[in-house]
Amino acid sequence: MATEVLSAAGAAVTVYDRMPSVGRKLLMAGRGGLNLTHSEPFESFLSRYGTAAAKLRPMLEAFPPAALIDWANRLGAKTFVGSSGRVFPKAMKASPLLRAWLARLDAQGVQFRVRHDWRGCRDGALLFRGPASDVAVTPDATVLALGGASWPRLGSTGDWTRLLGKKSVAISPLRAANCGFSISWSDIFRDRFAGQPLKNARFSHGDMSARGEAMITAYGIEGGAIYALSSALRNAIAKDGRAGLDIDLRPDISHDELARRLAKPRGKDSLTNFLRKALNLSPVEINLLREGESLASDAATIARRVKHVRLTLTGTQGLDRAISTAGGVSFDAVDDSLMLKALPGVYVAGEMLDWEAPTGGYLLQACFATGAFAARAILARIGA
Ligand SMILES: Cc1cc2nc3c(=O)[nH]c(=O)nc-3n(C[C@H](O)[C@H](O)[C@H](O)COP(=O)(O)OP(=O)(O)OC[C@H]3O[C@@H](n4cnc5c(N)ncnc54)[C@H](O)[C@@H]3O)c2cc1C
Repeated sequence: MATEVLSAAGAAVTVYDRMPSVGRKLLMAGRGGLNLTHSEPFESFLSRYGTAAAKLRPMLEAFPPAALIDWANRLGAKTFVGSSGRVFPKAMKASPLLRAWLARLDAQGVQFRVRHDWRGCRDGALLFRGPASDVAVTPDATVLALGGASWPRLGSTGDWTRLLGKKSVAISPLRAANCGFSISWSDIFRDRFAGQPLKNARFSHGDMSARGEAMITAYGIEGGAIYALSSALRNAIAKDGRAGLDIDLRPDISHDELARRLAKPRGKDSLTNFLRKALNLSPVEINLLREGESLASDAATIARRVKHVRLTLTGTQGLDRAISTAGGVSFDAVDDSLMLKALPGVYVAGEMLDWEAPTGGYLLQACFATGAFAARAILARIGA
């Protein structure tokens, strides 16, 4: 996005990337439909960035969701708003959008140098290890958009923390965000239900809650509703070694109504069959009620448990499969224009910066907004 803004204003831009092609993580995000942004009101949108919201406000105000939607539409990727308010391209993938974008950048004269690995800065020059030889370049300005450290095989490994750390840039440690969590399932539960979803439940940790879907996995649990709580869960595990996750399997039905339905005569039905018929509980939900403790057969106790399954999370899954990264270049290390105080002329954008947000389009939106913001700051500083 920085490249687009700069080249549209007439600047000569070269993009360096260590991979054989650019935009690999964007393509991966496209596998899940490419949730570009979210349609909720701006203040509520901004609040999803938690403690970083105040820092990101100027960037998101200058490049709000409407600007991103307009940008995608103008690239031919017509968007739509899904039932949850999330915004996707109609194609539900990234490749047509990326193709059109690269063609536009090409038409704006942008040069691409792939297989160039940034190795740091020396005496005002950027150093790269290229496919044939080492390369040193001295641009008028630089935008570093090297990503976080999730899915490192797509190019973003977070090794820039070492390179910028040497320049005394304050960096908060990179940690998994929007990730799964470990649970010690019983062998029987794990073998039978790994890969099965819990749908339309409410998941809570402390006073935070998220409604939606989660997936039982062999290691524990993952999925959209869990990602929404992931920063609080991760912090609790870091502090206490464990975190409680409460699940309401029937959030739209009150405890009393559940108890009323469960008080009906069971006849010859087994408890499993009765629960399936009375509350439409799936096998994974019924067995979740039994996981870790036996299930009493009286209506009030079962109703209470359906409204309140307590799981203990014992670990955070690693960066390898996390959707995004928490931590990064501290906002104290950059000025109001996102330029590194320790490296004048070098700007930082995207997931490299120290913010995190749940899934829902908030990640790409902030990456694009900070990229556009850094580019406009460069244009203001040096002109095109
Ligand atoms: C499976 C998955 C699904 C996702 N789905 C969504 C979604 O639907 N919606 C959403 O908002 N977000 C989604 N995200 C997150 C989103 O893709 C990222 O937040 C976003 O791509 C980060 O953009 P970035 O430009 O900061 O970094 P990246 O996209 O990671 O790009 C960084 C680039 O820098 C290059 N690089 C890194 N280090 C060096 C170096 N030393 N030298 C040269 N090049 C280097 C890398 O090769 C890479 O091309 C998803 C992520 C994953 C993993």
